[in-house]
Amino acid sequence: MSNIHFEENCFYCEHNEIQKDKMSEVRKLDISTLYLNHDQTHRGRAIVALNGHVNEIFELTETERKRFFDDVSIVASILKNTFLADKVNYGIYGDMVSHLHVHLVPKYKDDIDFGDAFINNPKDLIPINEMQRAKLIENFNDALEKIK
Ligand SMILES: [Zn+2]
Repeated sequence: MSNIHFEENCFYCEHNEIQKDKMSEVRKLDISTLYLNHDQTHRGRAIVALNGHVNEIFELTETERKRFFDDVSIVASILKNTFLADKVNYGIYGDMVSHLHVHLVPKYKDDIDFGDAFINNPKDLIPINEMQRAKLIENFNDALEKIK
């Protein structure tokens, strides 16, 4: 039986202003939603969040777990093949925001943090303007269309 539920005061469940400040929805995937992270210290940085709430991976059924990580895998392949990342880093934390979500951080050889852990909440954010955001979302959507 599925443990996926709605949790009050969770911005991934409520889709509230706190979330909209941090990320923009790109599109729904199979069992999750792809978001573009507003801090673009790493170009293409994205988040895949489960549609509905669990705290831990082991709370998913086997099928849900497969579907979730298939979604993560598709986005990772886009970061590699479309954004031309040299490596994709994955972050699953959730101390403060327990809703299951994966940070997908493309790393580029000649760029910041390569060979080291990415900073999850850097002090000096590199935000993007409306046009850059629209372009990145378009890049993701174009790539997703090709995969389908
Ligand atoms: Zn939630």
